[in-house]
Amino acid sequence: NDRAETLEFQAEARQLLQLMVHSIYSNKDVFLRELISNASDALDKLRLASLVDKDLAVDADDLHIAIDIDREARTLTVRDNGIGMTRDEVVSVIGTIAKSGTAELLRQLREAKDAGASQELIGQFGVGFYAAFMVADRVELVTRRAGETGGTRWESSGEGTYTVAALDDAPQGTSVTLHLKPADAEDELHDYTAEWTVRQIVKRYSDFIAHPIRMTVERPGEGDADATTETVTLNSMKALWARPRDEVEPAEYHEFYKHVSHDWADPLETVHMRGEGTFEYEALLFVPSHAPLDLFSPQGHRGVQLYVKRVFIMDDCDALMPNYLRFVKGVVDAHDLSLNISREILQQDRQISAVRRRLVKKVLATVRDLKVNQPEKYRTFWTEFGGVVKEGLVDDTDNRDALLEIVSAASTHDPSEPTDLAGYVSRMKDGQADIYYATGENRATIENSPHMEAFRARGYEVLLLTDPVDEVWVERVGSYDGKPLRSVAKGQVDLDTAEEKAEAEAERERQRAEYADLLTWMGGVLADSVKEVRLSSRLTTSPACVVGDAHDITPTLEKMYRAMGH
Ligand code: ADP
Ligand code: MG
Repeated sequence: NDRAETLEFQAEARQLLQLMVHSIYSNKDVFLRELISNASDALDKLRLASLVDKDLAVDADDLHIAIDIDREARTLTVRDNGIGMTRDEVVSVIGTIAKSGTAELLRQLREAKDAGASQELIGQFGVGFYAAFMVADRVELVTRRAGETGGTRWESSGEGTYTVAALDDAPQGTSVTLHLKPADAEDELHDYTAEWTVRQIVKRYSDFIAHPIRMTVERPGEGDADATTETVTLNSMKALWARPRDEVEPAEYHEFYKHVSHDWADPLETVHMRGEGTFEYEALLFVPSHAPLDLFSPQGHRGVQLYVKRVFIMDDCDALMPNYLRFVKGVVDAHDLSLNISREILQQDRQISAVRRRLVKKVLATVRDLKVNQPEKYRTFWTEFGGVVKEGLVDDTDNRDALLEIVSAASTHDPSEPTDLAGYVSRMKDGQADIYYATGENRATIENSPHMEAFRARGYEVLLLTDPVDEVWVERVGSYDGKPLRSVAKGQVDLDTAEEKAEAEAERERQRAEYADLLTWMGGVLADSVKEVRLSSRLTTSPACVVGDAHDITPTLEKMYRAMGH
């Protein structure tokens, strides 16, 4: 074909492909899940496009996925009659990886110690379409974007280049044909031309897909009759979120999670709920078991999928989840919305806000349950997402109490075990009115700070806060259980009882008189750097320390603001 062009994969894409071609991932069967997942997404998009634009020249009558196997040619093809891709889309989405975090993933992969660590990283990232190269040494893709006349043919062996060619004609949608590597049991490379193998993989990973996945199979004739063919549907197509909870297996939830999240790892926790009454909806939400690489990137994926009565409406629906729960994945099927609803309208929709309030409460309650009943899982949750969840303490005043119940922090009480606020309060000393915290870059820096001495001497516990957001939320929240949150580095820390105070005051008077000349002299020498030099009651072993005024910003915040250019 003289219209074929050979192009190079983007550098990151090439590196990721190399890993797939040389298959560091042991469960190769998942390639089929990825192709089916993409086909299903493409069908969802076409259905929505046809509903929204009645004039669009597309055929949306029999949306389906077909799997063809050819034993002789050793090929497996996954076809859909969905939205398809234009040539430019093929080049930009298949030839490059736009996913944020790719560079970071590759860096971590280079540093990964062993195959197990690499597998885990790949699993967390999810390689999507490229998974085809685990089982195929050549992949062909033919596609036609719905509404366009010409099509595109793409082909690659995954080694660095691919070809694209224009086609005068192609069926609507996309077909992906894999030229399979020889089966190799040791390498977990199964024979994907075997009907039984394909059936099992589809059943296991893609049963809930909402479109039929069909396969035409040969049936030997009875007696002398010729063999016949029969088209069978391999999946049950039941929308998982619409099924009663007690009828869904954990494994089914997990596979569904992988479809919606593009994660390859199991979720940490599943939340399946239903809202009845004025506004009906079903929600199936998941808390991932690890933070995505784009958690702190502004372009990262946020929010859940929105469906209206089983019809897919949009990905990344951020109107349904506050920013501080942006890692929650899943589906919300709202029954009473218009199919044409836009993101802008969703943000202001009262019913959507009502659903969102319910979802947030449920997610926070789920985390609290984990904390009480499954501390290991809670700990994973907090390690992965605590830094993000604490953002909620700043913005979400409605749920502040629920959030304060699930916060945990390192503390001087036990170096190996973080504490929650209730735990801190239960250990407060007689006469201790405040909850003390110290902020800093890491535990060691804080613990070595002279501010800690007086607290250590008195046996007062101090929370050790090391996330940048900590400074902000402790300020904003102010107190817990009626007890003020106080920084050890600010103002006059009042650690004494009345009697001790009187005694100390007398002692200080004496010392002030004794050191008056010295203090005046030091104040003069340091006039450009400090407001005042005074005697302190807070130190026990260090000779001096610098403190902020009660209303000054703390050193960490000061650093943060400076870094931000203030
Ligand atoms: P992801 O599904 O996470 O976006 P993939 O690597 O699986 O990543 O797919 C990359 C992109 O290629 C998809 O986002 C989609 O735009 C496009 N794509 C893949 N398969 C199809 C298909 N069958 N029909 C239409 N577009 C597809
Ligand atoms: Mg995909």
